[in-house]
Amino acid sequence: MINPFLNDERKAFHDSVAKFLEAEIWPHVDDWDEAGDYPQEVNEKICQLGVFGFNIPEQYGGLGFDDAHMRKASAVEMGRSSAGGVMASVGSRSIMLKPLTELATDEIKNRVLPELLSGRKGGALGITEPGGGSDVARMKTTARRDGDEWVLNGQKMFITGGMQASYFVIGARTGGDDPKNSGMHGISLFFVEADTPGFSRTPIERKMGWWASDTATLYFDECRIPASHIMGEENKGFFAIMDNFNYERFMMAAQMCGMSMRLFDECVAYAQTRETFGETLISHQVIRHKLADMSARIDAMDAYLNQVAEIMNTDKRPVAEISKLKFYCSTNLEWIASAAMQIFGGAGYLRGNAVERIYREVKVQAIGGGSEEIMRDLAMKQMGL
Ligand SMILES: Cc1cc2nc3c(=O)[nH]c(=O)nc-3n(C[C@H](O)[C@H](O)[C@H](O)COP(=O)(O)OP(=O)(O)OC[C@H]3O[C@@H](n4cnc5c(N)ncnc54)[C@H](O)[C@@H]3O)c2cc1C
Repeated sequence: MINPFLNDERKAFHDSVAKFLEAEIWPHVDDWDEAGDYPQEVNEKICQLGVFGFNIPEQYGGLGFDDAHMRKASAVEMGRSSAGGVMASVGSRSIMLKPLTELATDEIKNRVLPELLSGRKGGALGITEPGGGSDVARMKTTARRDGDEWVLNGQKMFITGGMQASYFVIGARTGGDDPKNSGMHGISLFFVEADTPGFSRTPIERKMGWWASDTATLYFDECRIPASHIMGEENKGFFAIMDNFNYERFMMAAQMCGMSMRLFDECVAYAQTRETFGETLISHQVIRHKLADMSARIDAMDAYLNQVAEIMNTDKRPVAEISKLKFYCSTNLEWIASAAMQIFGGAGYLRGNAVERIYREVKVQAIGGGSEEIMRDLAMKQMGL
């Protein structure tokens, strides 16, 4: 596919990410997945690529500029690596960096951002609760003001990177009983450090996919943090959460495009060598048509991503487009992953290959960061319908 927005700088960035991941991650994905973990140094190596530094000033270790096309390129490559679990854990910092950079105090930013961006320390975002994730406005974790402190009580669930993170951005209800501050109008964001008394966490194991990632339940029991750790205006956190979701969803969509590209490449390679009925699989018209359909869907995802990236680069928030992009990519990935498994036949059912692994990781993309149903609803609302 021709990318009309590609230039030398973007191509060089894309190539450097691809080269690193192909050399340093691809050979280990199966082993790390089976082990349910990966070496800590991987965090630092991936962070050194600069993939999380967009729109963060250089003084904190960021890139000092933004470019949605480069963001897309890095996420596509992360998807193509088929190392969903590793990328989720390393990338968990990326979904808390925007609110941290825009809303935290200078003291927190100076101390924490360089550690997160260098990969020395991990970060995570805690929005979802045991009672639900789609309806963010009804979160139940509370924060009450007590003198110079905020006191947090409640639980967060499904928190990616939550066991290894040192720093968290947490959503909590601050609206109290005041009806004017109910629902979305009574939520604030807080910066919480892992060693704070009253904070604890336990791992969520036995997941369908993302085996190499850590996923945690977080507990806040009279957890006291300094008053200055509120991020942004009190009771205005919901809007910051929604704004932040746009970037997470865009990156997930790009990752899904990369996962689909990998599935296609794996299928072509397999179909060119596997023989049935005296011919290679790729000679059979049914298989050829499946591959053609896969390729067309990937081209459409890629073109859609480029279009949305271009709009994002003008500083606009194309919320409807990002919502549609996310479910467009997840429904296509679901189709492509299923077709790929079918092309692999029994071989795809065995562990230790990208096709099987990606098939297990489809649903977290279709549900996490805003499910397909919620994305469709949001798109309709944003279109005024
Ligand atoms: C592996 C993993 C990692 C995650 N990482 C993080 C993280 O780092 N931080 C974080 O905060 N969260 C994280 N999440 C949570 C994720 O964002 C939520 O799972 C997601 O938002 C859906 O919330 P839920 O699971 O509570 O489903 P629910 O909100 O209970 O919804 C259940 C189902 O009902 C559907 N549904 C809900 N409301 C409607 C409606 N009005 N109309 C039609 N259908 C509806 C949903 O689409 C979904 O299919 C993670 C989840 C997973 C599985």
